[in-house]
Amino acid sequence: MNSLITDYLAEVLDEVRDDTAGEVPTYIPALQKADPNWLGVALCTVSGNVYSTGDSSPEFTIQSVSKPFAYALALQEFGIDKVREHVGMEPSGEAFNELSLEEEDKRPLNAMINVGAITINQLLNGTDSTVEDRVEYIRKYFSELAGRDLRIDEDAVEGELEGADRNLSIAHMLRSYGIIHDEAHDAVLSYTQQCSILVTIEDLAVMSATLANGGVNPKTGKKILDADVCRHTMAVMASCGMYDAAGRWLAKVGIPAKSGVSGGLIGALPGQLGIASLSPRLDEVGNSVRGVTVFEHLSDDMGMHLMNTENRAGSHAVRSITREGDCTTVHIQGIVNFVAAEAIVQVLNQHDFTTGRVLLDVSRIVESHPIARRMLKEGLRRLREDGHEIGVIDPEGELRSRVLDDGSRLPLVE
Ligand code: GLN
Repeated sequence: MNSLITDYLAEVLDEVRDDTAGEVPTYIPALQKADPNWLGVALCTVSGNVYSTGDSSPEFTIQSVSKPFAYALALQEFGIDKVREHVGMEPSGEAFNELSLEEEDKRPLNAMINVGAITINQLLNGTDSTVEDRVEYIRKYFSELAGRDLRIDEDAVEGELEGADRNLSIAHMLRSYGIIHDEAHDAVLSYTQQCSILVTIEDLAVMSATLANGGVNPKTGKKILDADVCRHTMAVMASCGMYDAAGRWLAKVGIPAKSGVSGGLIGALPGQLGIASLSPRLDEVGNSVRGVTVFEHLSDDMGMHLMNTENRAGSHAVRSITREGDCTTVHIQGIVNFVAAEAIVQVLNQHDFTTGRVLLDVSRIVESHPIARRMLKEGLRRLREDGHEIGVIDPEGELRSRVLDDGSRLPLVE
């Protein structure tokens, strides 16, 4: 029954599939290994359920999507105040590889652009760490966030370093202001290795869900980051994660996010879920063209905008399950958004219904989102397919329409 979510995700991918706008960047040779047509999306809920569709198996280099995670690690190690002495948190409104520093105190503006990310990378594992130890430390931590052992694409590192003049100039500039201390080459080597960790969209969805879940990896249950570190990281992602499209993104999509040149795009919705998409062709500011559209659809359809006033919700969506004779009733309650509907559908999916009849009592719903109503109806329809007689207790007409996807009507029970 889980497939109703992946079916929905597949519909979203179908809507954007034919868009061939944008270009795969050429300045990192390894990016040419990507098939420009790759298209995939994955979700991981804070309860640890992962859904993916499309190209979920290709591994690609994480690139700039590594920045928020490296930033979170620095915050965890040194505390927010100390890290702020090195890197600010203001949107730059500039390209990701701009050689820019704050006017007054010469700090990088934020950790989501290269100048800030190189500075953050240099803090990790202590400023006197060797490049090798630092990179291994980061690789291990990324692996914990993903819940599996990740590796580095050394060819990608080599290729990027051959044309890394821009990042080298950034590192020289940082060194000249005493912001970093390693040789420029070492700093860029270490940062480029961080960018060359190989991931899939499922890895990225779990990593993002770990941020959304206050630092506990929902798949492994391991506590990796403090909740205030996650909150701070997502706040900076919200204002700076999409380069100079960050303002438009926050207004339109409203999900803290980060994009990368390999076509990956992540979103973390606090307390709800992590999302990741892959589509390698980029727009002029460096964001994945179809990735952006996928997120626009998800945000709209699933009511995921951070500023949604109905965003409180999720847990305790199933109030009780009662049984009388040959009838089981699942009573649901509260604000039923995507995450709540997912939890309810999981119950409909996993509960061992031994009665012929299964009813869904929606009379205690306070508010429901269209995608959630659709999911509930589809969950019931699939129970009917499994041989149960189904019905709904809905005195207020909360479901709006009782027409199911196959055109049949859901019986109303008094
Ligand atoms: N390694 C890449 C660079 O520094 C990452 C950039 C990106 O993903 N936007 O140029």
